[in-house]
Amino acid sequence: MAKIIAVTNQKGGVGKTTTCVNLAASLAAMKRRVLLIDLDPQGNATTGSGLAKEELDTSVFDVLIGTHGVREVMKPCESSGYQVLPANGDLTGAEVVLLDLPSKETRLRASLYEVESEFDYVLLDCPPSLNMLTVNALAAAQGVLIPVQCEYYALEGLTALLQTIETISTALNPALSIEGIIRTMYDPRPSLTHDVSSQLVEYFGEKVFDTVIPRNIRLAEAPSYGLPVLQYEKQSRGAIAYLALAGEFVRKRAAVA
Ligand code: ADP
Ligand code: MG
Repeated sequence: MAKIIAVTNQKGGVGKTTTCVNLAASLAAMKRRVLLIDLDPQGNATTGSGLAKEELDTSVFDVLIGTHGVREVMKPCESSGYQVLPANGDLTGAEVVLLDLPSKETRLRASLYEVESEFDYVLLDCPPSLNMLTVNALAAAQGVLIPVQCEYYALEGLTALLQTIETISTALNPALSIEGIIRTMYDPRPSLTHDVSSQLVEYFGEKVFDTVIPRNIRLAEAPSYGLPVLQYEKQSRGAIAYLALAGEFVRKRAAVA
């Protein structure tokens, strides 16, 4: 059965999409079967995986409203060998449409039953808000990965996120737990980085991944070529860091199981 992991933080620009794409590619390089689901109308995980979001006939939106199954809509990331359930601007209207549908919070979860046995990991790239798409992700997931940029306001939004996780775990999904905190765009020079980093460790303990993702220009460049960094420049610090993260992620999961 697939482990379903929501990569979320309602703060934008913290590295959710970068983590999803590069963790998916790194896990695929480790021979794991991965499905990456883009839940952001911006479709950055879709384009970052080499798929043209304007040219999609169907997207995750069609899966959420129930006209198509996951298997009909998913497409391979050609460069890296994981599958993608793509998104584009159509998803902007999903919130409104979902409100009128039955089981609006658990539609993603229900749609995943048909493919759960085909994957080792399903990664959910969440939008930068705690909206109905994020609720669907948290209702479907067993684990939550939270990318955090070690900057001044980093901790502020986390309380709201933790409350949402708590609410959803009580109301909809008792299996939900925090899988880990990932320090992204890590610059070891400013002392603020260390302050925020040690606050994270103090609060979340072993849930904070030892692997940190450095700020690395190759990670920012790769999406414009529609490639995960591993395929763009495999010797880069970014590629090495995400491979290390994938290794730690798999080991952590094995330790829990
Ligand atoms: P989110 O999905 O949380 O909004 P993104 O993953 O899209 O965040 O990252 C925001 C921006 O920062 C993007 O332009 C991305 O390419 C860049 N970025 C993300 N992680 C790194 C990193 N480790 N080093 C350099 N640039 C990064
Ligand atoms: Mg994103």
